[in-house]
Amino acid sequence: MLETKTLTSARIRQDFLDFFAGKGHTIVPSSSLVPVDDPTLLFTNAGMNQFKNIFLGLERREYTRAADTQKCMRVAGKHNDLEDVGPSAYHHTLFEMLGNWSFGDYYKKEAIAWAWELLTAVWGLPKEHLYATVFEDDKGDLGVDEEAAGYWQTETGIDPEHVLLFGRKDNFWEMGDTGPCGPCSEIHLDRGPEYCDKCDDLEHVCRVNGDCQRFVELWNLVFIQYDRHQSGELDELPAKHIDTGMGFERVVNVLQGVKTNYETDLFMPIIERAQELLGHSDEQREEHIVAYSVIADHGRAMTFLIGDGVLPANEGRGYVLRLLIRRAARYGRKIGFQEPFLAEIAQVVMEVMGPHFREIVDRRPFILKTITAEEERFQQTLSTGLARLDELMVELIASGETTIPGEDAFRLYDTFGFPLDITRDVAREHGFSVDEAGYQEALKAQQARARAAAQFGPIEAEDLQIYFHVLEDLRRQDVVGEEGVGLVYDEAVQFDTTVAAIIQGGKPVDVARPGEAVEIVLPLTPFYVEAGGQVSDAGLILGYADGGEEPLWEVRVDDTHRPVPGLVVHVGEVTDGTVRRGDGAVAVVDHERRLDIMRNHTATHILHSELRYILGEHVHQAGSLVAPDHLRFDFTHSSMLTQDELDAVEQSVNDAILANYPVDAEHTSYREAVDAGAMALFGEKYGDQVRAVKVGYSDEEFSYELCGGTHIPWTSEIGLFHILSESSVGAGIRRIEAVTGRAAQRLVQERLSQLERAATFLGSQPGEVDRRVLSLLDEVQSLRKEVARLQQAVAKRDFELLLDRVQDVRGVQVLAAQVDVADEGTMREMTDWFRDKLGSGVIVLGAAIDRRPRLVAAVTPDLVKRGLHAGRLIQAVAQVVDGGGGGRPTMAQAGGRDLSRLSEALALVSAWVAEKLK
Ligand SMILES: [Zn+2]
Ligand SMILES: [Zn+2]
Repeated sequence: MLETKTLTSARIRQDFLDFFAGKGHTIVPSSSLVPVDDPTLLFTNAGMNQFKNIFLGLERREYTRAADTQKCMRVAGKHNDLEDVGPSAYHHTLFEMLGNWSFGDYYKKEAIAWAWELLTAVWGLPKEHLYATVFEDDKGDLGVDEEAAGYWQTETGIDPEHVLLFGRKDNFWEMGDTGPCGPCSEIHLDRGPEYCDKCDDLEHVCRVNGDCQRFVELWNLVFIQYDRHQSGELDELPAKHIDTGMGFERVVNVLQGVKTNYETDLFMPIIERAQELLGHSDEQREEHIVAYSVIADHGRAMTFLIGDGVLPANEGRGYVLRLLIRRAARYGRKIGFQEPFLAEIAQVVMEVMGPHFREIVDRRPFILKTITAEEERFQQTLSTGLARLDELMVELIASGETTIPGEDAFRLYDTFGFPLDITRDVAREHGFSVDEAGYQEALKAQQARARAAAQFGPIEAEDLQIYFHVLEDLRRQDVVGEEGVGLVYDEAVQFDTTVAAIIQGGKPVDVARPGEAVEIVLPLTPFYVEAGGQVSDAGLILGYADGGEEPLWEVRVDDTHRPVPGLVVHVGEVTDGTVRRGDGAVAVVDHERRLDIMRNHTATHILHSELRYILGEHVHQAGSLVAPDHLRFDFTHSSMLTQDELDAVEQSVNDAILANYPVDAEHTSYREAVDAGAMALFGEKYGDQVRAVKVGYSDEEFSYELCGGTHIPWTSEIGLFHILSESSVGAGIRRIEAVTGRAAQRLVQERLSQLERAATFLGSQPGEVDRRVLSLLDEVQSLRKEVARLQQAVAKRDFELLLDRVQDVRGVQVLAAQVDVADEGTMREMTDWFRDKLGSGVIVLGAAIDRRPRLVAAVTPDLVKRGLHAGRLIQAVAQVVDGGGGGRPTMAQAGGRDLSRLSEALALVSAWVAEKLK
């Protein structure tokens, strides 16, 4: 631990400002968190924001030296600080940035000397623990910032060994793609080895910029030296500037010698007030330190945001504020706050920060009222939303899922005002993740619906109300119990029942006729409703007269839905007769299809277990689809499976199938399931019954999953399991698609007959097809080589015949001829042959390639000296065929458009040569 004087945060802030005032700086007030005249920024996020226009040369101020402490907010962008608050001790939504600036006034020498003086002489930080970094261009264009490196040696008492060079990533600052930029120098403090939080990481090198808590960056001195142009070029600026930034909370942390920022006197009074309100012991506080930290951090941010005029809203800055209040409120509730309490927190923020930031004290009543109103609004929706989310997670765990579907996350937001961030938080605490892409999709879809609704009147919500009314009616009439429609998919695939309700076009009706689309409600149903990845059943509902043999009517069921909890509708079409509400009916699930689904579902469980056995316990189900024709299983694993691994997985699943293990579903208490190895996700208040599916004998079961789906009773009924593909579906998530039973059989049959046919075509045996194909490919390759060789031989012979047409033009051998070749490469090769054969001369070849004239000309070097230039020659010739080209004196090529004049063009060559040699 460093020996430091203990200073209050107020004193540290004042020291900084006094120090730079003493060096001729104007102390400017912090600008608002809401950037003035800068639509590109959500919030002020750096000290230099308010000086941006000076650096861009768009504005002048009366002063050339300034210093301040700027309140900043960082919540969005690639680094989402909102997520880090709490678990990390070093990230805050609201923070202060100390800075000093020179606008064309002092430069590197003073900036370095003063920073050193403040840290060591004023604040007494030990010199031997300080490091400075200096820019060295890793791209090599700019070299080392020798100027800065020199001043560190001459202007400070730093250990010369503690001046380190770093490249563009760490030590070059740019405002944007163009504009002011320059190297920087950072001051780091070594807090001692005991602060390293990465010593367990073998890759970790404990050093400056090594990304651990031992070396903390205190201060960044930016030397604005260049102006970057659109082209990327850097111009030296006529007036150079200084822009420095020092994270205030961090420097307070260091000077007060505490481990985390939350232990400084900036946060401690807030945390202590919360503790006092809750009546927690110190142990209880430590136990819930994450919640305390979130409350302290967000309490500061909300106070300042409202102080700067931001109000809770559903978008932009207002949404961030709403989120902060709701998130803090929820954490508060978790650790025991029953009533709105955040106004109390804001009061402490005002006590701690108010002396410097008067605006929050001046607007005290407004800030407190706004916070409490929003908190109350949230309390009302929180209970409903949390209960719904818990329910959802119970359902998901029952089907082995750990991802909250985007649809559901969105519905929570849409219906209960439950922000995605809170859903994400709660999900994470229970070991769930949220399908955020799906959330965004649902959000977009809703926006599209909202636009449509604006045109065509309200939809959706009213549609769902009809289902509520139908369900309420059935409950009132005791057709269904409190639980709603009974599910007997577990026990039967055929069931005698009655038509409880018929819905058509969003309205309950009494009668439906052939050809009409319907939704049928039955008090009890053997149909499975899509859940846990297993798709809905299909089948028939048949109406019989008392004692009748032949059905009176028939409804084909294509799908089932649960539009509201407790109600199941069978979606389909009346295919025969007239259906009436109250009719006796038999519900018949398509049993073959259901069996296919059951085989795939049980195979999914076995696959899950084998993947964990073969790849490791890190494998967790991340989603699944159990359909009649195939299964899809997503799981956590970081790399592609090798063919060996896939083979091993496929083999062990098939082994488990052949072992003919029993598959049993049992209803048990959640507690028992957990004790038997299920993932612990919820507290005891969910003493609900769960359904667990077991594969294997009770003494050696190898798969035990909470699951609501349907399964075959013995694994051998799965038949064959075959993997179709393995792929990636996102970072760290792999997907296996496979077939079982009838689909696997069909696939094997198809593949075998393809193989048989291929063997017949090849005149060989199925077992030899692969070797036969390989040898055919070899043969094809050597034939291709042979063809190429022959083509060249033919071209050479043709060319030799052409040599008879070489003319003597004033003592120079000239050949101009049309050739029949497929590409320009061959033409160029022919000019080589010409040179080899004749030693000296001029050759122009023309050919029709893709029905266009192409020309190649070559002149031997001895003739270039006599004024013949292949490039110019080809230009003259190409003009005739309406084209152009060019090249070196010895070799040139051209293309044209008029093929009909190719021979005319070639006829020009001799005359052109004769003319040049005159
Ligand atoms: Zn370290
Ligand atoms: Zn399952």
